[in-house]
Amino acid sequence: MSYDDNNIFAKILRSEMPAHKVFEDDETFAFLDIMPRTKGHTLVIPKNPSINMIDIDPDNLCVLIRSVHKLAPLVSKAMGADGFVIQQLNEAAAGQMVFHIHFHIVPRYLGVPMKHAASEKEQDGILSANAKLIRQEIDKQLG
Ligand code: AMP
Repeated sequence: MSYDDNNIFAKILRSEMPAHKVFEDDETFAFLDIMPRTKGHTLVIPKNPSINMIDIDPDNLCVLIRSVHKLAPLVSKAMGADGFVIQQLNEAAAGQMVFHIHFHIVPRYLGVPMKHAASEKEQDGILSANAKLIRQEIDKQLG
């Protein structure tokens, strides 16, 4: 399979689709999952196109994981979470639905189960409010 320029995340990167952005630098972009498994579920993607772990250039992967490492504790703190899961799926058989590589940051709350993947669209107002809290925490910590 070759990279499809018309996947949803490629469109978000080109601003052809809206996103609840929480962070951007020269090489990576982070935004809220619209069908969050928990409150504050965030996706981190590279700007360079890759499908998944199979085709990504190792340097690009390093850049991506650096952003995940930087953002995950801040997302968790902003949401008042008790911990977080980092998830990354490769190929349809593993549950990959969007074929532009991404890491999931899924905040976890004691006693609160994760919803099934992509099971329920969150209200726009709630996503906006959560994105704002996360942006504020990122601004506070990273300036
Ligand atoms: P994966 O199964 O790892 O490919 O995850 C894809 C994720 O993208 C799922 O959690 C979906 O809820 C999420 N998703 C799909 N469309 C959008 C979108 N337009 N904006 C934000 N997240 C999306």
